Amino acid sequence: MTEQFPTFHNSYTQLPERFYARVAPARPKAPALLALNKGLAEVLGLDAAWLRSEEGLAMLSGQRLPEGAASIAMAYAGHQFGGWVPQLGDGRAILIGEVTGTDGVRRDLQLKGGGPTPFSRGGDGLAWLGPVLREYVVSEAMAALGVPTTRSLAAVATGNEVVRETVLPGAVLTRVARSHIRVGTFQYFSARRDVEAVKMLADHVIARHYPKAREAENPYLAMLEAVIDAQVALVSHWQSIGFIHGVMNTDNMTLSGETIDYGPCAFMDDYHPDTVFSSIDRGGRYAYSNQPPIAQWNLAILASALLPILNGDKDLAIADAQALIDSVSPRFDAAIVARFRSKIGLADEREEGDPALVADLLSRMSANMVDFTNLFRALGKLPNEGGPSTDAPARDLFADPTVFDKWAEVWRRRLARQGISEAERQAAMDAVNPAFIPRNHRVEAMIAAALNGDLTPMHELMDVLSRPYESRPDKADYAAPPTDQQRVTATFCGT
Ligand code: AMP
Ligand code: MG
Ligand code: MG
Repeated sequence: MTEQFPTFHNSYTQLPERFYARVAPARPKAPALLALNKGLAEVLGLDAAWLRSEEGLAMLSGQRLPEGAASIAMAYAGHQFGGWVPQLGDGRAILIGEVTGTDGVRRDLQLKGGGPTPFSRGGDGLAWLGPVLREYVVSEAMAALGVPTTRSLAAVATGNEVVRETVLPGAVLTRVARSHIRVGTFQYFSARRDVEAVKMLADHVIARHYPKAREAENPYLAMLEAVIDAQVALVSHWQSIGFIHGVMNTDNMTLSGETIDYGPCAFMDDYHPDTVFSSIDRGGRYAYSNQPPIAQWNLAILASALLPILNGDKDLAIADAQALIDSVSPRFDAAIVARFRSKIGLADEREEGDPALVADLLSRMSANMVDFTNLFRALGKLPNEGGPSTDAPARDLFADPTVFDKWAEVWRRRLARQGISEAERQAAMDAVNPAFIPRNHRVEAMIAAALNGDLTPMHELMDVLSRPYESRPDKADYAAPPTDQQRVTATFCGT
């Protein structure tokens, strides 16, 4: 190893052996860089030119691990679509270690698609190009939108074949996260009645993510509340941009509050609360409007896993946990209304009728198959005083434009009662209503081109998505919803 390899640490391997399994990454036949995230490399204190070199590529493809790096698969369990699975674990992801970035933040680097592990359960531990590029693009789009998320440092083609329904080119994604600890990690130990491990894991999470909880009277309860805060903020943010995660299993919910697992996720085009994309979500468990209650369900699972360490008195522990879980729903109501108030241009003053004004707009949108992203962006272009003659950008998105006019009258009366100027309101709206989201048909087209060896659509898409709040009339194509032929109705699990 040359000294150019960054120094890695590995706090997870300080935990007992039962928390993980040591594994060696698979050897790629002919690694080739597909994408490298220069901005993120800089934050991590890694030299982009070095990452592109043969040595850098050897690290990104798992051929040679740097000094201090471990190579482990983490153990976890989880509820998948509500069904209990006592052992899942990293079946195709290998944690190589942690680096502390130039911002002082410690982050995990994981090779996704790095080969089989003891947790692969019959899977091959591999990933193919499609899901790797999908995760790269969508996770980076989420980061640019300001949503807490795991990041993507690099996508590397392995030169190996991956067998799915057909034979496909293999790839490895370097995923970067504040940590990879999930609700399911706690479940793994609590289901085994390994209270000592639950406690060690909670101490690890507090040290890494919520150091203030350590000072609280009941640190583990404070940690639970901090996770609730983080998840309510996260999922409310998803709701505000029409992001549908698609597979909110307890093993896909992080303790850090970052979005994780970009398998069957997608952004809504037309607004409808029942929208589902994942081909395996037949019951609509993870539909758009179910995301907040499912987050609450997952947090309740976390709370029960923590019960043995919450309080010496079992009844008191249950009462404390129950009170926090009961608070999730009102916390969501407040956080979601706050996001949508900003989306329709309401500044800090609040009025009792605001939630109803938001709900009325959404129900008019769902009845008229209105594009979610474009409608809010268009609202930000409308003048404070106007009507059908000024409102084409918004009203023309409705199948019946008069349905918009009736709402706009009430909205304008509300705008007139707040003390900010038209220009201030419009700028504030443009800062929360993106012009560009990773529309599914664009992501699919980008993958199809990459399979043909053409990475240009990917780079063009990334350019637009890296500045999602900027008005770029020359890029209007990327803001357009899919035509009937382009529409993608299901995304398949990122296997
Ligand atoms: P997910 O649906 O992506 O959350 O994955 C659920 C579980 O399946 C996790 O334990 C994954 O590690 C595992 N898994 C998914 N795909 C594969 C694969 N190709 N090989 C081995 N394990 C996999
Ligand atoms: Mg997962
Ligand atoms: Mg997945």
